[in-house]
Amino acid sequence: MRPTIDQIRTAAYGRWERRGRVHGFDRADWNAAEKQQILFVNYRVLTADRLDSEAPRAIGDPSRRRCRFCRQATPRAEFSSRVRIIPDYLGPGSPVAFDQCQECASHFSETVDPGLAQFVRPFLVGSSSTLPGAAGIAVDAYKGLVRLALSVMPVSDLEDHEDTVEWVSNPDHDFDLNVFRDLTCTVHVVPAAFPASWVALAKLKDDREAWPSMLFFLGTSHVVFQILVPLGQRDSDHDGVPITVPDILPPSPFGPEHEPIARVMLPIVSTEAVREPTLR
Ligand SMILES: [Zn+2]
Repeated sequence: MRPTIDQIRTAAYGRWERRGRVHGFDRADWNAAEKQQILFVNYRVLTADRLDSEAPRAIGDPSRRRCRFCRQATPRAEFSSRVRIIPDYLGPGSPVAFDQCQECASHFSETVDPGLAQFVRPFLVGSSSTLPGAAGIAVDAYKGLVRLALSVMPVSDLEDHEDTVEWVSNPDHDFDLNVFRDLTCTVHVVPAAFPASWVALAKLKDDREAWPSMLFFLGTSHVVFQILVPLGQRDSDHDGVPITVPDILPPSPFGPEHEPIARVMLPIVSTEAVREPTLR
């Protein structure tokens, strides 16, 4: 659904006021307001976590341990005291999970975390004008982002994503890649680095829209990575892999100075495609 002209005008006016009523940014304010309204009219932001919180959010019930991925409970599954959801290099204040068993956590740390780190790390250094020229996002890195999305997803929505869990858990990353070849990771470039990394999840309000039912955002340094969470039940009318990527403003917890000035779409590529060349 498109926002109305009135909605955009009101949002643009609000931006102009927050800017101290300085003139000369009318077009930029209007464009940003439109992208912001496209998000708010169509999506509900379910979760948003700053990763510098001194009291990070706890997910899951510490007194009743059951894994959100394999669905096993104690005593069949073993649980460590807590699992940090977001890798340390993205911030010290990751939410902690009481609902990820040791086996699943260590499985993901071997199968998707290294690929995600390899993809993200080059973006953590430099400025908005010296971003790495990534040609694509490897499947394991994409799955690493999806795993983060699944980790912070409300349990009621997780039930709609059984196929997603299965896909992310499959260590044969290049299997069936053809089905996912239209997936992209949008990299929004922001001019001023975020004071802290953050993650957010947004859910489509109306299933009749041919847009992704669930979007995940990871903001860090000078970028926001935006992906859709594939294979959701609510996407089944569109073969589980919606293609349209809405042109929106990410739901950042920080101010307008951290709003994107550009975006790049990285296609998903096989893990083979990004592997370092080896000497023969
Ligand atoms: Zn598990």
